[in-house]
Amino acid sequence: MMLKLYNTLTRKKEVFRPINKKSVGLYTCGPTVYDTAHIGNLRTYLFEDTLRRSLEFLGYGVKQVMNITDIEDKTIKKAIQQKKDLSVVTKPYIKEFFEDIQKLNIETADAYPLATGHVKEMIKFIHKLMDKGFAYQGKDKSIYFDISKFKNYGKLVGLKNIKIKDGVTASSDEYEKKDARDFVLWKAKKKGEPSWKSSWGEGRPGWHIECSVMSMKYLGETIDIHTGGVDNIFPHHENEIAQSEAVTGKKFVNYWVHGEHLLVGGEKMAKSAKNFFTLRDIEARGYMPLALRYIALSAHYKSKLNFTWRSIEGADSAIWNLWRELGRLKYMGQKEATKTKKGRLKEHRESFKEAIEDDLDTPRALSLLRRVITDVDISSEDRRALSYKMDQVFGLNLINSDKLYKIPIHIKTLVSGRELVRRNQQFVKSDSLRNKIKSLGYEVEDTLYGPFVWPTRNRKSRPKT
Ligand code: AMP
Ligand code: ZN
Repeated sequence: MMLKLYNTLTRKKEVFRPINKKSVGLYTCGPTVYDTAHIGNLRTYLFEDTLRRSLEFLGYGVKQVMNITDIEDKTIKKAIQQKKDLSVVTKPYIKEFFEDIQKLNIETADAYPLATGHVKEMIKFIHKLMDKGFAYQGKDKSIYFDISKFKNYGKLVGLKNIKIKDGVTASSDEYEKKDARDFVLWKAKKKGEPSWKSSWGEGRPGWHIECSVMSMKYLGETIDIHTGGVDNIFPHHENEIAQSEAVTGKKFVNYWVHGEHLLVGGEKMAKSAKNFFTLRDIEARGYMPLALRYIALSAHYKSKLNFTWRSIEGADSAIWNLWRELGRLKYMGQKEATKTKKGRLKEHRESFKEAIEDDLDTPRALSLLRRVITDVDISSEDRRALSYKMDQVFGLNLINSDKLYKIPIHIKTLVSGRELVRRNQQFVKSDSLRNKIKSLGYEVEDTLYGPFVWPTRNRKSRPKT
């Protein structure tokens, strides 16, 4: 099989054919840094990371670029409210964003360009659009994209001749324009707003132009994959296509891949709805950030996913169990003589690859991981090795089970002491030692090969991962 991805542009799963297998261009719309990201935003970054990891697992080289939207209505509003420079307002949120993605084990992109670092290029790009007749200046001095000049407008969202009623615009801009559907490329300065000089006067770029310019600068005029959450399809990505293809005359993106939303109580999680949680909320309740990653993997990226605290509890415990199972396999591996059945490993490897190639079917891949770990026809060492290989895609830090395996010496001593009295059938003593070990945060399990000891899952004081 070959990797298939659901392409929003064609509305079907398609075989992925990159421009250059050694360097797949992946553009992921990044955070608007006016506030702390909520876990809905993080679900999208996790899906994008899974896509990147899957491509790498399947042997592709990836060049990923994620922009940081630091010029946008919301960042500017906050800067005005707080009477601070734009960069002073956005800096702490940029820092938080990097902390969050690190905690979630999200691989670092090759570049994180800031909109503020690319205004000159954006102005140049808008000039090109004007020269080609796709843009005009409104009475308010702002520059607009003229949708009537771009024949294919609506191809991503799947609507030809999008009709937008008066008052409802494709960009929710409150600026004067010829047609309600036209969207802003350059916003003329309003009182108190940060601004940049241009030949049309002081102003600032619109959000859509930022992504077109930065993706082309870092990844070229036609890129392989562009992603975002489904709310980015319209108008953001539709507008990106219009601007970019109007300038180059070339296809902007071959595969548009969009992730579904994280919901809470059945509603989209959003800052505006005030129904959101952050990664800090998850940590404050004593759960591992990776529990969010596990939840994200347990649903297909194209399915809506309802967040509950019960699901976080289950996910946190599931990761702990995976680590424990892998620890037990390490313990068994040093003692057992199981030989791996020929062909079985290959079967698992192929099923896993198939699940990933089928539009990143992570729920299926996760259930395969559980099957591999418990397959008694495979030696413990082979089960462990294959699980770690699969974790290249999951990013659940399964290798952590190796660290947890290092039980402190004072605990080991207690465990050996308990084993001795247990063998002598001094069960009261052995139970009391078991309780003592438990009170120190470890559990003993008597296996065929002797006592296996492991740290107890504890929401408040867990080893660092
Ligand atoms: P923003 O910081 O608002 O630009 O959003 C960053 C990313 O989060 C975008 O790709 C959005 O599509 C995505 N996003 C926003 N809300 C949600 C949600 N509830 N679930 C999943 N992704 C979301
Ligand atoms: Zn974008």
